[in-house]
Amino acid sequence: MQNYVAPKDLLKDRVILVTGAGDGIGRTAAMTYAAHGATVVLLGRTAEKLDAVYDAIEAAGHPQPAILPLDLSTATLQDYQQLGEVIEKEFGRLDGILHNAAVLGDVTPLDQYDPDTWDFVMRINLRAPFVLTQALLPLLKQSPDASIVFTTSSVGRRARAFWGAYAVSKCGIEGLSQMLADEVAAISHIRVNCLNPGATRTQMRATAYPAENADQVTRPEQIMPLYLYLMGPDSKGTTGQSLDAQPK
Ligand code: NDP
Repeated sequence: MQNYVAPKDLLKDRVILVTGAGDGIGRTAAMTYAAHGATVVLLGRTAEKLDAVYDAIEAAGHPQPAILPLDLSTATLQDYQQLGEVIEKEFGRLDGILHNAAVLGDVTPLDQYDPDTWDFVMRINLRAPFVLTQALLPLLKQSPDASIVFTTSSVGRRARAFWGAYAVSKCGIEGLSQMLADEVAAISHIRVNCLNPGATRTQMRATAYPAENADQVTRPEQIMPLYLYLMGPDSKGTTGQSLDAQPK
């Protein structure tokens, strides 16, 4: 499916929420979903970046998106609840979530890892996808064909030395995805999967690998086939999986 070619109207009439939509992979995924007909709800913490994505989608003539500014490190349960209410009021439906927002935290040995940084990373990378999904499940259950995509990493499959809370959060995401896939399989039309983008040219990658030549790293646009496949109807029946957006 890494070479999946999506029909232009793959996501027509669907409403899809993308977290961390202001930059990196999330920005490209939001633009790509909109280009395939989706009404995209752009969630992120930096309003100017979300505005820029909004303007780019509008300028391209794609369905009008919506902006939901929210800092996942400080969001309260009430914020998540309100978010669900706003989506229901504005659109009356939700057909997909791409849980993409994450932070790297420190790359350092555990015996030197700052516990406050640990909490910060876990809150954004693991708690937020859990609570956000919980708040939006009632809406997703009403969709005839809903897809939840969590973003994992190679260190979420096998934690590696020095990757700290980031690796543990991604191991947790794999577990969360498997558990939810099992729980909703019998009671809804929701499929739940993990997607590992693989090395991709973004700010996070540059921070994690400062000595790397960015020109040789895959661009976000190149990994979109799997992002489209999992969000659209061609992946019906695929659930509880952890897939790779690039060849390893
Ligand atoms: P970037 O750092 O480029 O983008 C991350 C996005 O998440 C940004 O839009 C950022 O917002 C947003 N974000 C961060 N913290 C918060 C917060 N507290 N509240 C709301 N939004 C927040 O990362 P990538 O695009 O590289 O990563 C996207 C996903 O892919 C992540 O889950 C990452 O773990 C995963 N991944 C990436 C790989 C890579 O090589 N790039 C490899 C494997 C996995 P803002 O711009 O405002 O800071």
